[in-house]
Amino acid sequence: MPQEVRGVVAHGKGKPVSLETIVVPDPGPGEAVVRVQACGVCHTDLHYREGGINDEFPFLLGHEAAGVVETVGEGVAEVAPGDFVILNWRAVDGTCRACRRGEPWYCFSTHNAERRMTLASGEELTPALGIGAFVEKTLVHAGQCTKVNPAVKPEVAGLLGCGVMAGIGARSTRAGSAAATRSP
Ligand SMILES: [Zn+2]
Ligand SMILES: [Zn+2]
Repeated sequence: MPQEVRGVVAHGKGKPVSLETIVVPDPGPGEAVVRVQACGVCHTDLHYREGGINDEFPFLLGHEAAGVVETVGEGVAEVAPGDFVILNWRAVDGTCRACRRGEPWYCFSTHNAERRMTLASGEELTPALGIGAFVEKTLVHAGQCTKVNPAVKPEVAGLLGCGVMAGIGARSTRAGSAAATRSP
């Protein structure tokens, strides 16, 4: 059964965000509902609100999060209810040319949940970076859930989903920009 939770929504360019009722559907095949325990505040969320990413308002903000898997859809084997996870932006398919070559960061076919979270009115939300985690529970592709040690505090683990990775990426691939422009 779809659940009603509370979440932070940006309705329009530069408008104040608001706390709203969000309807979270049951997870479809390959999807998971995650109870969010912590979510960082990242500049990218502000970019969404400012209309700097795209115009697909309303946005469900938040993308740097950790939580516990509550339910999973059909065919999900990688995570199970009760798993402590961090959320990543894009689930790689593991089978395309780039993934087979051991370079999943160039994956040609990444996944987000296909079912949509909505406002109480039924209006569909666009989750920030395919996550949307300023909300009590969020729907993601199960591949967006990465299991981590449950001994780590959620507010620390969540940062791995964005800030830490961006920093490590920038530092460890001096060629970060060169690599990104290299043809796959
Ligand atoms: Zn971020
Ligand atoms: Zn791939």
